[in-house]
Amino acid sequence: MTVRRRGFLRRGLKRTIVALSIVVAALGLLRLGARLVFPANADAGEAEVVLDPGHGGSDPGALGGGRAPLREKDATLDVARRTALLLRAEGISVGLTREEDETVSLSERLVRARRVGRASAVLISIHCNHAEERTATGIETWHTSAAESGTLFPHVQRWGRMLLGRDLGLDPFERAAESERLARCLQTALAAYARRPDRGVRDGSFYLTRRASGPAVLVECGFVSNPAEAALLASEAHRQRMAEGIAKGVRDFRSSDRR
Ligand SMILES: [Zn+2]
Repeated sequence: MTVRRRGFLRRGLKRTIVALSIVVAALGLLRLGARLVFPANADAGEAEVVLDPGHGGSDPGALGGGRAPLREKDATLDVARRTALLLRAEGISVGLTREEDETVSLSERLVRARRVGRASAVLISIHCNHAEERTATGIETWHTSAAESGTLFPHVQRWGRMLLGRDLGLDPFERAAESERLARCLQTALAAYARRPDRGVRDGSFYLTRRASGPAVLVECGFVSNPAEAALLASEAHRQRMAEGIAKGVRDFRSSDRR
């Protein structure tokens, strides 16, 4: 073998080592980036269902009720607590993103949901509605389809999932389909138990329903801007019916989960 040929081989080896180092460094950076996009997976808890009582603390949510003032943040927390009691009585493990009247940002809610719940846990964000039109009334449930969550977002989630391993929950496209199925189960049960008009299942992009790792929906339990519905939402009996409706929706979702 000539000296020149050995030099060529050495340079080739050097280039290969440099290229491999670049690939390893790039993969490391991608993993780090994915960890930032999908935080707290290592802390994933055991809850099968995570309830997210909307608003809280310095954020009262929608206000209404006329003579009986109603703050959305109180109604959502009470309905969530009642729902948790019902589900736990059936042996279903439940976590909450807030247990009391405190201010919690959306990103912190996501971190908490991942801390208390499994990666594939059902996430139900509980809210009340508000409209300029005081006659607006009824129940609606929102989910985020793959199309609605943005062209690239489900793909980015899928890449992050591939980089970080399997504890990231459902495949983003399967998750979107499951979220819609969960929304249908909840909407049907809630409208029936609450005996309020059924405004249907709706597709829209919300922070939590877009970024959750399992099936995720947002339920609007009625309009605080409608005096009659606000009076109902202020009553314990109605809140209990809402909780029973959500629990029934979760049961229906789980029992039809036979793929
Ligand atoms: Zn709200």
